[in-house]
Amino acid sequence: MALLHHDARRTGLRARSLGEYAPRAARRRLHEDLIQAGIVTSVAVVIALYIADGGLSRITGIGDAVGALGIAAGLVGTDLVLIMLLLAARTPFVDRTIGHDRAMAIHGSLGKPAFLLIVAHVVLLLASYAMASGADLVTEAVAMWSLPDMPLAVLGFALMGVVVVTSLVAVRRRFRYEVWHLVHLSAYAAALAALPHQFSLGGMFAEGTWQRWFWMAAIAAVLAALLVFRFAMPVVQTLRHRLEVIGIEPLADGVVSIVMTGRRLDALAARGGQFFIWRFLAGGQWWQAHPYSLSEAPRPDRLRITVRALGDGSASLARIRPGTRVAIEGPYGVFTDDARTSERIAFIGAGIGVTPIRSMLEDARFRPGQATVVLRSPDDAPPYLFDEIAGLCRAKGATCITVPGPRGRSGWLTDAADAAGHSLVGFVPDARDTDLYICGPRDWADHVVADAAAAGVPEERIHRERFDW
Ligand SMILES: Cc1cc2nc3c(=O)[nH]c(=O)nc-3n(C[C@H](O)[C@H](O)[C@H](O)COP(=O)(O)OP(=O)(O)OC[C@H]3O[C@@H](n4cnc5c(N)ncnc54)[C@H](O)[C@@H]3O)c2cc1C
Repeated sequence: MALLHHDARRTGLRARSLGEYAPRAARRRLHEDLIQAGIVTSVAVVIALYIADGGLSRITGIGDAVGALGIAAGLVGTDLVLIMLLLAARTPFVDRTIGHDRAMAIHGSLGKPAFLLIVAHVVLLLASYAMASGADLVTEAVAMWSLPDMPLAVLGFALMGVVVVTSLVAVRRRFRYEVWHLVHLSAYAAALAALPHQFSLGGMFAEGTWQRWFWMAAIAAVLAALLVFRFAMPVVQTLRHRLEVIGIEPLADGVVSIVMTGRRLDALAARGGQFFIWRFLAGGQWWQAHPYSLSEAPRPDRLRITVRALGDGSASLARIRPGTRVAIEGPYGVFTDDARTSERIAFIGAGIGVTPIRSMLEDARFRPGQATVVLRSPDDAPPYLFDEIAGLCRAKGATCITVPGPRGRSGWLTDAADAAGHSLVGFVPDARDTDLYICGPRDWADHVVADAAAAGVPEERIHRERFDW
């Protein structure tokens, strides 16, 4: 373990006072609560509108009750699908509040319940119609096929089933990311195919009802968010900023930094620690887009990423040529100074996870002596970008600690550090009052987070960037 320096010279950098962090953190918490409340409220509104439009008054027997349950399940399931699409739309409000990875985690967690509700919708309505007509379920299903827009709805249902099954972790791992992503995108087609039958069947969304207005507004809002933020904005940004590769700098075996220039990059309002989804428009590469964090603070005429070869997409970037144009989506993520809750800050990184730490360290405001950087590496080779990180620590008065060696019992430190009784608190003395920014391999980061939680660091002070989705 090497404590490199603790340079507390005055650097003239202005740190924010605690008074500046507290209201921002409170505002973020409020926005997060609003998102959660919005999800619950939308479900309540959907049920309330169904009841208000006479959903329950139409129940005269057991068959109708089963049918009403089926309709309610379909409405809530559709509502959840719209929420999932909205969470995936990369709206600035959601991204700035909970970050893209949390948004996608919630998106993922809603997938199964939404699908099960729609399965319940199909089964309960079939049962209800069969009870009314006295036919068996198969005969009833065949009869329903001829209802308006029903074949489209069945196609949507089947597509949704494929999306849900291919998203189960065990199944997903069998596919290349790009194949899985392509299949996943058919969720848009599934949602679109299922919509017409809601309006054409049974007068449920009859003209003049609140239900009709609510659903039309909800669908329009989600479509608009997707079109604007998912499709139009990236095209506009790419055309406007005209990013192009100007340099490729080999850093270590299988690791390169790619430097890009472009027009008015300050207008992107990117922060150190954020990531973009990059598409390098060169033969053999244009068809895949990958997320990479900025590895230095963004400048008005320059962005840089540092990439470790992990698969074919990342490996191919070592062969990229200067002059290659780059399409972007972003900036995304809340691994930034904006998420701070405290004057004290610590960065804990391992492997290629140092990239957002390097750029955020440059961007972050703190007084000398208020920041700590802990870098883990599996052997004596210096961590990636170490010279730059050490230089920034010297200039800004941060403590920089490197801990080389294979992982020990703690799961994130070394055997020697574990034997000496080191833990997070040893490296970051005021850990409870410190914002921790953690990035590294998933299970390694899990151990750091567990150590932080055991040390009593509040959840809102633990900021983690995940490199896996
Ligand atoms: C927010 C974020 C920031 C990242 N920043 C960096 C960085 O600064 N430097 C760096 O070297 N790596 C970074 N990564 C990881 C990098 O995106 C993957 O290593 C890269 O996408 C792998 O692609 P591949 O074709 O080389 O490998 P593959 O063999 O195709 O995939 C390897 C792994 O990466 C995942 N992956 C592949 N494509 C994507 C994608 N488009 N979106 C999400 N996951 C994908 C796969 O699911 C798989 O687990 C970051 C990832 C995320 C999510």
